Amino acid sequence: MRLIVVLAWLIALAFVAFPGSPATNASRTTENSASQRARVAVEPSLITQEQVEGWLKFWQQRLGLVEWTIDAKIVRVWELPAGAVANIHWSLPKRKATIKVLHSADSNLRQDAISRDTELSVVHELVHLSMAKLPLDPNHTELEEEAVKKLSAALLALYYSEPAHTEVAAAAVNSR
Ligand SMILES: [Zn+2]
Repeated sequence: MRLIVVLAWLIALAFVAFPGSPATNASRTTENSASQRARVAVEPSLITQEQVEGWLKFWQQRLGLVEWTIDAKIVRVWELPAGAVANIHWSLPKRKATIKVLHSADSNLRQDAISRDTELSVVHELVHLSMAKLPLDPNHTELEEEAVKKLSAALLALYYSEPAHTEVAAAAVNSR
């Protein structure tokens, strides 16, 4: 009995001593409270599987994640955790990942915003994947989430920089 207590104590100590060990399998979920409306009726998606795969291929290359085999799926709201618009599951040893993005029928974003928001979800989940080897704490992902949100939004904003933004940047440079 005493041996069992000592063993349990040692195991607990190991977890306390090495809290940052990278998990070999993990998942991250992107939450967006402004995007939840479950409609049971089957509606055609405003985004296609081909579009999602195109974004995946493009951003996977840009982020240097070509050694990964990544699947992308458009899923209904009940296939994601509550409050989520996307998530990713990965296996580090297998270098395999699956990204799920929310079907447009379950989004309450404006129709013209859904395409860009879904691409942002793909970039966001890939940025999570780029951090998969870091010693992150799976029980406290808030700081990781904050960094991933900023980086993914910045990447997409850079890629789609509007002419107006370019003019502002040019004016700022010229005023020096
Ligand atoms: Zn996230």
